[in-house]
Amino acid sequence: MADPPCAPKIRYRDRIAALIALESTRRRGHRRPKNEVRAYRCRHCAGWHLTSQPKRTKEN
Ligand SMILES: [Zn+2]
Repeated sequence: MADPPCAPKIRYRDRIAALIALESTRRRGHRRPKNEVRAYRCRHCAGWHLTSQPKRTKEN
């Protein structure tokens, strides 16, 4: 079985966990290469990921 396209991404078990991670990323203050702005539910792994993509962009 091939890895899902999201395999390299950090996976969160639910929306709350993803949002907490997103918030703590912001609070830490130092810039990251990707500026994640949004959490979304992944249809590949049924987990949650953070993305820097705007909402209208197709998610993986
Ligand atoms: Zn996923």
